[in-house]
Amino acid sequence: MACFKMEIRPSKIHRYGVYALETIPARRKVIEYTGERLNRKQAKDRDRGNFTYLFAVDPYWTLDGAVGGSGAEIINHSCEPNLVARIIKGHILYTSLRQIRRGEELLIDYHFTKDGENTKCRCGAKTCRGIIEK
Ligand SMILES: [Zn+2]
Repeated sequence: MACFKMEIRPSKIHRYGVYALETIPARRKVIEYTGERLNRKQAKDRDRGNFTYLFAVDPYWTLDGAVGGSGAEIINHSCEPNLVARIIKGHILYTSLRQIRRGEELLIDYHFTKDGENTKCRCGAKTCRGIIEK
């Protein structure tokens, strides 16, 4: 499911992160976000606490990356990401926004829309919004 060599290791931003082990050109599919497919009610039941790996595909279906995840669920949030999520025919594809160098951490803007507590952002980008709107 990962289209390039990458590895999971400790991150300065949050716990663990995913790092490129080779150069990734711009606008390429990098990894697919996979997980158990949950309907609206199942997703609501599972959505507890801060560390969930739920990703809404559409208003009805959500993927839980904690079960059968590809590793994409480990990718940290940044206000200045190098990946963007595209939803194509029920699949969540993380694609590169620009060329990513070998050794760089893969980062995505979570764009949380759910209500609840805000989490402090530690991405370190100049344009950091300060919080992850959760
Ligand atoms: Zn930030």
